[in-house]
Amino acid sequence: MDPILDGLNPAQRQAVTSSDPISQVLAPPGSGKTKTLTARVAYLLSHHGYLPQDVICCTFTIKASREMRERLSKLVGERVQSRLILGTFHSICRRYLVKYGYLIGLRKGFGIADSDDSRGILRRIIKRLKSSIEVKAAQSRISRHKAHGLGPDDLVGRVKTEELEIVDIYRQYESGLAASNLLDYDDLLVRCVQLLREHPDCVSNVQAVLVDEFQDTNIIQYDLMNLFASKNRRITIVGDPDQSIYGFRSAEIQNLKRMQNRYSNTSVVLLESNYRSSASILKSAQEVIEQDTARPDKKLQPTHTQGTMPVLRKLPNASAEAHWMVLEIKRCMAMTGGVLRMSDFAVLLRSASLSTRIETAFGRAGIPYKMVGGRKFFDRTEVKTLINYMRVVSHTDGTDALLGIINVPPRRIGDETIKQLTTGAEKANIPLWTFIKDVVQGRRSTEKKLQKAAELGLCSLMKLIDASKQKLQECEDASAPRVLLEYITESLSFQEYLVRTYPLDEDGRWANVKELMGQANEASFSTDDPGQEEDLPEIEGIEQQTVHAGEEALSRFLANVALATEATTKDEGEQVTEKVTISTIHAAKGLEWPVVFIPAVYNGSIPHSRAEVIDEERRLLYVAMTRAQALLFRLMGPQLLENVVFAIADILRRPRPAVEDLYKELGSLPSTLDDQWTAEGEEKNKGGDSEWKKSLGSDLGEPNPKRRRSDINQPTTTTYMSASGQSMGNSSNFMVPTTLS
Ligand code: ATP
Ligand code: MG
Repeated sequence: MDPILDGLNPAQRQAVTSSDPISQVLAPPGSGKTKTLTARVAYLLSHHGYLPQDVICCTFTIKASREMRERLSKLVGERVQSRLILGTFHSICRRYLVKYGYLIGLRKGFGIADSDDSRGILRRIIKRLKSSIEVKAAQSRISRHKAHGLGPDDLVGRVKTEELEIVDIYRQYESGLAASNLLDYDDLLVRCVQLLREHPDCVSNVQAVLVDEFQDTNIIQYDLMNLFASKNRRITIVGDPDQSIYGFRSAEIQNLKRMQNRYSNTSVVLLESNYRSSASILKSAQEVIEQDTARPDKKLQPTHTQGTMPVLRKLPNASAEAHWMVLEIKRCMAMTGGVLRMSDFAVLLRSASLSTRIETAFGRAGIPYKMVGGRKFFDRTEVKTLINYMRVVSHTDGTDALLGIINVPPRRIGDETIKQLTTGAEKANIPLWTFIKDVVQGRRSTEKKLQKAAELGLCSLMKLIDASKQKLQECEDASAPRVLLEYITESLSFQEYLVRTYPLDEDGRWANVKELMGQANEASFSTDDPGQEEDLPEIEGIEQQTVHAGEEALSRFLANVALATEATTKDEGEQVTEKVTISTIHAAKGLEWPVVFIPAVYNGSIPHSRAEVIDEERRLLYVAMTRAQALLFRLMGPQLLENVVFAIADILRRPRPAVEDLYKELGSLPSTLDDQWTAEGEEKNKGGDSEWKKSLGSDLGEPNPKRRRSDINQPTTTTYMSASGQSMGNSSNFMVPTTLS
């Protein structure tokens, strides 16, 4: 048997081996779409003879592309997978622009403006124009226009007069970016589209294009896919319309139809069996998504046993939810005889900002966790400062990174000096850095003369940056990010600075710096890290821009930081490898965990108070629910405990534990969790399960007669939970699945 096809079902095999040039694999969550796509890449290489550097494969997150590289390493070997052009749309576009951007007039060494940089530029423009538009609103509107491929000039004839102000801001924003030689996230895609339209030969080698999570592509990404495939027209996409959750970022569900219309030879493969979750989880998830009546009726076919029923818990507030999860996790760990590990649990949130209470509760209870989906790690002050230093060295023209370090550690450069410098640079219409250099070297002057101390401070900053640039030049390999970071940290005596500035928290802060060093170091060892990629292949007749290997390694590292939306703390090498994951639902796409909690499911959160499309909110809950494999449980009797644990072990394909291991640490835990709530004055829960169920029924209007009123002595299980004292949705939009017990 071909190892690539091993472990695939007939429908998956058909999708993998299909000779149809254009194919769509459409299937519900957990049906093996990503697995199939990965196998298809391997199959194209080994059976169609495509070279890895001629295959482009787009994933939705950096994490997903790493996982795919790891799986491919096993199927086709490390060497082969590292030559694939595999990554997120953004990272693939960046690679093309680094090599070929000169063809469309991009300057060498462009930097990437992260969201903060974009806001910084917009803030200055809005202030200058004395506009009343909010910075965030301007940012998202500009981004929306870019996602539709519309530049300021395209908008002039199209928008209403009151919109003209935003067009003006948009135009100035574009010049601001250009002046700093920066591209924002959207530009990476927009400019790559421009490149490939004007110079399609850059991708003339490409034999096949594959896209995961296609339902969440926007128009620009859809265009890119077609442009990548323009020569050979071989495309495989996998997706699930029910999981489309990026409409707010201009994703277009219609791309599926569009693709079928564009390529009349599109073949469609449907996968039906679900390999991820227990049958009861699927049933509950199905009941959520079925409420969208406009959607074609599709069923999820379970391959696992019934498992135990998911549980809906109604708790008074966020702290109670956090506390409840702590207890459930502890009970699970104590009672399942080692079937479950800490890393089997995930808490999935509507937004990263909901994590605080949970993090505090987990911290207090000693439950190790990692936060995914926020930019938290890179936003920590000390980490951000060092990143900004690296950004200034890599790309000196950006204003915001420079402002972030100009007086950190303190160099007696005060606000007044900074104001003088920024206005001076703006008036002279040159990058802030160039202006500062001119001032220090006496070629220009500020409106008011700078104080001597400030001048000395600027001088020392300039020396440091110049010396760091020199260091970077000397480092002609992938170790550049690490070498540079060490050099900067030492030159600044950064550890002593942290001790001086944060005497109560110096260890924690230094630990973050070390974590950052670890990440920079990881980027250095290209052969060990499946996340690394080799250069784009040479195309005859088109020259690639030569890049200094050290500079490119640094710019790639910084691009990954700028584009990071996901796990930022490393697992390996740390003392605790077993951690509960706390993630946003958006960042949990495509992933799976044995036990999933979904806190804060109430009106205003899910569905969100500002949600434009209620269906998308429903799909969000559906995505969250379908991440769960087995169940978390509450138990009543020994007989039932065994059954529940064995069911979980079977679903996870893990060995069943010995029965005598099941109750070991049970004595130290509260017997029922409801005791906790009565103790804290939660009157409603006094009567146990049937009480809270009644109250939930009344919140939703008419209690659903189909809902099971299970006896208190029945085992209830939890995959997902919640409602912070408010109703779980509003019955007209959203209903609690009837299979929840
Ligand atoms: P999502 O829509 O959530 O991204 P998906 O359709 O991409 O899900 P995968 O992540 O590829 O699904 O697969 C889900 C789980 O099912 C994985 O653990 C995978 O290994 C397993 N799986 C997929 N196909 C099979 C199969 N034929 N036999 C056994 N397990 C399978
Ligand atoms: Mg997937």
